[in-house]
Amino acid sequence: DLLLDVARVRKDFPILEREVHGKPLVYFDNAATCQTPQSVIDAFDHYYRRMNANIHRGLHSLADEATAAFENARETVRAFINAAESREVIFTRGTTEALNLVAQSWGRANLGAGDEVLVSQMEHHSNIVPWQLLAQERGFTIKVIPVDERGVLDLHAYHDLLNERTRLVAVNHVSNALGTINPVKEMTATAHEHGALVLIDGAQAAPHIAIDVQDIGADFYALSAHKVYGPTGAGALYGRAELLEAMPPWQGGGEMIATVSFDVPTTFADIPHKFEAGTPAIAEVVAFGRAIEWVNSIGLEHIAAWENRLLKHASEAVSGIDGLRIIGTAPEKAAVLSFVVDGAHSQDIGLLIDQFGVAIRTGHHCAQPLLSRLGVDATCRASFAAYNTPEEVDVFVDGLQHVINMLR
Ligand code: PMP
Repeated sequence: DLLLDVARVRKDFPILEREVHGKPLVYFDNAATCQTPQSVIDAFDHYYRRMNANIHRGLHSLADEATAAFENARETVRAFINAAESREVIFTRGTTEALNLVAQSWGRANLGAGDEVLVSQMEHHSNIVPWQLLAQERGFTIKVIPVDERGVLDLHAYHDLLNERTRLVAVNHVSNALGTINPVKEMTATAHEHGALVLIDGAQAAPHIAIDVQDIGADFYALSAHKVYGPTGAGALYGRAELLEAMPPWQGGGEMIATVSFDVPTTFADIPHKFEAGTPAIAEVVAFGRAIEWVNSIGLEHIAAWENRLLKHASEAVSGIDGLRIIGTAPEKAAVLSFVVDGAHSQDIGLLIDQFGVAIRTGHHCAQPLLSRLGVDATCRASFAAYNTPEEVDVFVDGLQHVINMLR
């Protein structure tokens, strides 16, 4: 049985002790950013007290230790997503930068007029806009994989869209707005049959689903530390080694070169360093590794089972509220409850429920094409993490009922 000692888990998160408007904090905005355990906070303290130095170039002890900690985090991320080699893991500022890296490096070198990129209708804007910006310049076409009224990708339409012009399929593993889990392994296999590469936005999958990039067959996979109990400012791009090796650099600077000259062409470092120009967010990356260690210490399957219980409990409880409609009813969902309420604006609900100490997200969740497909311009979104409890769900549902009564 998959058990989780939530009282013990909660002790690891100092922020959960605080109050908001005199009420205990109920933090249900985990899909936007999730809270960090003490061990992650300690990683910063330790880094700046004991080993702060620039990495990869110094020969002194601090530089050595900082480099080892940074590269150790790379190995931790590699194991977390089961990449074959740690050089296939590139550190970035987050998912957004990872997706832009693929567009600006692989995309700029490989996409042109006549080519097609398939993007799903449920993408976060960060997996839409980089392709739109590049399409303007390179003249390729963006095609959209449609979503049905439950918020599930239409796989028949996907198969019909794939053809010999398709160069890339860019799709999220889990939708941030609805929680839909997409069948990325099957989608990748089909894309490969057509000779297309697959880029998976795993920002929302990483905290909830065990990721195995080799089993999925992913060509590229992006994630953010702050969605996996880590800090902001760090994330990773996985890319298959042979693809990364063939791709040109996208940012120039220190660390990413082999030799620089004004007389002969400048040459570049091997992967992953070719894609890590300049001083990275060293402490953040070290803390990212620590966050994954924390997740591993609890067990992702235990976290997922617990969150599924919370999601089920919350979905059942809110369905008793008159005029409330859940947006996103996919059979496979992860930790996200999106909804709208007749006669109450989402923004007003979000603002007023904060008075009960409850933090939820309202708005379009950076997925405007998806919301417009589903006929809404905003939803309220409660999203769960390992430290949330059924009692918190009850506080949220009570608060919600009060707020709706006030607004009507
Ligand atoms: N994709 C998805 C599915 C997301 O949920 C997010 C964050 N909301 C992003 C991409 C962008 O991640 P970041 O802001 O950490 O770069």
